Amino acid sequence: MPEDCIFCQIVDGEIPSRSVYEDDQVMAFLDANPLAPGHTLVIPKEHHETLGDLPEDAGSRVFETLHRLAPEIEAAVDADASNVAFNNGEAAGQEVPHVHGHVIPRFEGDGGAPIHAIAG
Ligand code: IMP
Repeated sequence: MPEDCIFCQIVDGEIPSRSVYEDDQVMAFLDANPLAPGHTLVIPKEHHETLGDLPEDAGSRVFETLHRLAPEIEAAVDADASNVAFNNGEAAGQEVPHVHGHVIPRFEGDGGAPIHAIAG
């Protein structure tokens, strides 16, 4: 793993995180700068920079986790919907070069803006 990867440091417990879920391959934790209450990041524990670098099995596990957690997170914060998205590569706005999916709870009346309008 790259020494300076903050998400690898979260996986290793060197940086604290507010855990939402963890298993042998995947971690989910609250975003440090949430765009909405309950904003959660889902990552593979193994370091891979982009979706294209991610082995199929790890990608499946990340997607399964997003699939299961998104409705649970919505319910936990009483949201009406959520954006589930990846910034995939630096030119697409990916700031942390360790694959991560965002679950961003959305609320009726919050503007209904699509992901590019709220996360850009
Ligand atoms: P990106 O723009 O898709 O790469 O999103 C990176 C996300 O990681 C941003 O939403 C940041 O707020 C979040 N983030 C950065 N450092 C930390 C941390 O140490 N803990 C939790 N979230 C973080």
